Amino acid sequence: MKLAKRVDALTPSSTLAITAKAKELKAQGHDVIGLGAGEPDFNTPQYIIDAAVKSMEEGHTKYTPAAGLPALKDAIIGKLKQDQGLDYQAPEVFVGTGAKHVLYTLFQALLDEGDEVIIPTPYWVSYPEQVKLAFGVPVYVTGHEEFGFKLTPEQLETAVTDKTKAVIINSPSNPTGAMYSPDELKALGEVALKHDLIIVSDEIYEKLIYGGASHTSIAELSPELKAQTIVINGVSKSHSMTGWRIGYAAGDATLIKAMTNLASHSTSNPTTSAQYGAIAAYTKDDGSVETMRKAFEERLNVAYEKLIQIPGVSCVKPQGAFYLFPNVRETVSLCGFPDVDTWVEALLEEEKVALVPGSGFGAPDNVRLSYATSLDQFLAALERIERFVLSKT
Ligand code: PLP
Repeated sequence: MKLAKRVDALTPSSTLAITAKAKELKAQGHDVIGLGAGEPDFNTPQYIIDAAVKSMEEGHTKYTPAAGLPALKDAIIGKLKQDQGLDYQAPEVFVGTGAKHVLYTLFQALLDEGDEVIIPTPYWVSYPEQVKLAFGVPVYVTGHEEFGFKLTPEQLETAVTDKTKAVIINSPSNPTGAMYSPDELKALGEVALKHDLIIVSDEIYEKLIYGGASHTSIAELSPELKAQTIVINGVSKSHSMTGWRIGYAAGDATLIKAMTNLASHSTSNPTTSAQYGAIAAYTKDDGSVETMRKAFEERLNVAYEKLIQIPGVSCVKPQGAFYLFPNVRETVSLCGFPDVDTWVEALLEEEKVALVPGSGFGAPDNVRLSYATSLDQFLAALERIERFVLSKT
């Protein structure tokens, strides 16, 4: 069958591909350790589940407004005020079926054919594909390890053309865990304002930050920056609610209205009971978000120290999210492999450890390891990687 050009041009998600391969090996009876997961390994906190169940029992099983229940918008507005000191009104908030679909809807609402979106590398795998699906053009700017993989204002200035519409800032970052400081954001914001760029600020890992770091949204830094920024966030990572599919955007009311129109013809609304769960997530706190954060931090500290012992591995220590993104170029050549992708494949075949090659994130010398798995499993995987490396060198 002849398909549309836009789907032909799509790159399949590298994270899902490795997960599928790992599952296949598991199904054949192999003892596979998968470090590809992009979701917390904890259950959703009980008070959230209870709120969703109660909503269904009370008969809240029908359509809601396309951009979400007023009570959920209020809860999100309260969260943005409490955590970031930001003031939004209901027409400036859009609730969608996960931050991924919120971003998809955003690019559909924002981009015309040929509009450029600046994407710092390493990037989350879906940004370029979503931009392309909206007939936009991803413009990659290489983040250098010596700057913690972060986009610099000079790089942003150089990448801007008369077709640039937006820039994506993802702090903390998937896959690197890097976080921008307020000064760094301010400097990037100046360039964005100078060129009238829309700032897409993906803050989905906001609650998962370590080493005493604090999170700043670029929208907090001035009213001008707030007006230019679309904040993207959701409950998936903060409240271990990946399957519930609730994310949101906060920003310019005209854009939010366009996204709402799009949603009214695509999703109709995010799942009603999941919205009730999200209201509980944003209005109550039983300490579980902090408990999960602490568990991730403990894992990170142990796992990082072990990881950098492996011959040839270097790694910028992440400040957030739940991934390690080491450079393994030297390890791969010590092992005699031509590139990281074939090294990752051999590691899965021989030692049954699934990592995600950095090529899918625009960083072909790196691999991504998720520590959203038990520390025991993670350390067992590191032992296998070390054994694999030592056997090849
Ligand atoms: N943004 C980033 C950087 C992510 O890593 C993810 C999920 O992996 C998302 C957005 C989407 O999250 P969700 O659609 O589960 O809300």
